[in-house]
Amino acid sequence: MDPWFVASIVLAIALALAITVARRRDLEVRRARLAVSVSPDSPSGDLVSAVSRLQAQADDDARALAHERLERANLADTLESGVIRVDAALQIVEANDLAHGQLGRPAGSLIGRSLMEAFLDETAESVARAALEAGVVGAELRPAGPDGAVIALRARRSGTGGAWLVLEDVSELRRLQRIRTEFIDNLSHELRTPLTTVSLLAETLSREAAQAGDEIPPRMRERIEKIEIETGHLVQMVNELLDLSRIESGGTLEFADGVDLGRLAADSAERLRLFAERQGVSLRIERSPGALTVRGDAARLGQVVVNLVHNAVKFSPDGGDVVVRTEPAGGEVVVSVEDHGVGIPAGARERVFERFYKVDRARLRAEVGGGTGLGLAIARHVVEQHGGRIWVHSREGEGSTFSFALPTSPAPAR
Ligand code: ADP
Repeated sequence: MDPWFVASIVLAIALALAITVARRRDLEVRRARLAVSVSPDSPSGDLVSAVSRLQAQADDDARALAHERLERANLADTLESGVIRVDAALQIVEANDLAHGQLGRPAGSLIGRSLMEAFLDETAESVARAALEAGVVGAELRPAGPDGAVIALRARRSGTGGAWLVLEDVSELRRLQRIRTEFIDNLSHELRTPLTTVSLLAETLSREAAQAGDEIPPRMRERIEKIEIETGHLVQMVNELLDLSRIESGGTLEFADGVDLGRLAADSAERLRLFAERQGVSLRIERSPGALTVRGDAARLGQVVVNLVHNAVKFSPDGGDVVVRTEPAGGEVVVSVEDHGVGIPAGARERVFERFYKVDRARLRAEVGGGTGLGLAIARHVVEQHGGRIWVHSREGEGSTFSFALPTSPAPAR
């Protein structure tokens, strides 16, 4: 090989090595300079350590946030209710395991979906939308699914935007309620026929005993009268049980437009004038001028007024008075029945609307007879099914005022 050629190759390699070594040195020198310029003792070193402290803090915060999120998800999963959080556009941003189960979806698959996609039912979306405006809204729905579950949905506006939805599976509760209603309905039907016969016979017997005069000993006459009165109570109780179970199961109301509640309340109260007179109680009916119309079932609303006036008379002293008023208030018509009788103790005021609840069985005037404890439960159901509310103001020993309010609806065009 040409010695010049070999020498030039060796020279080229040596040159390349020299350049590489020089570059590496330069790099090390630069690194060393940089290290000096960012050392903690230099001013720019303060900045760097502050940045790295911030970075560490941010890492800690991110870890704590992730931990908190996990805890919240764990907490939501331990709840016995389905929980869903939606953003202001009603997209699901969080949902616990139970919510997925209740809607028949695989875990995690609800996130990012719309409420319509999740429930396949418009109700959930409209409930959530209403909650964004009104605060809290509830409804019951049956999302499409294999087992046809009934879900009670409650939506609450979140303070940070969007809303929280809580889902309760009430299928079993509704099934038991239906069984109870059917049981009461069947039992009342079975009882009503023989009881009506017994009641008619007792009435006839009592009339004949009265006509027979002295032929019948007074004690026997008294007993016959008692049988007639008590049979009357039994018939009333069975009728009210039937009414309640029908009203509770819904679908029995016949709504009509333009029901004049002032006239209806006056006519219904009038039906009890004779009863009031017999008890020595005076009945006054006050009506605002003009028609106060609502949308409703006139027969059922009349029954509400009768129940309230009946109670007012029953719990008034001899010589007492009862006032029935109908007046407009805001967008509502309010009917109130005021008495100055025994009143209701504070602890019992809400409970009187429960079925079978009676404040004190001993307070009733003996000659008036007992009640079933169902009248106010029926009244509350009827009023609520009309979209109204019912309440009582009372003072023990001074009297009570029961009121109910229904939304005003215009009279139908003629
Ligand atoms: P009842 O058939 O016993 O009257 P209700 O449901 O109508 O049944 O009433 C429930 C209970 O509420 C009554 O038993 C009574 O204790 C109380 N109550 C209802 N109305 C009045 C009233 N006007 N004054 C005092 N107590 C009342």
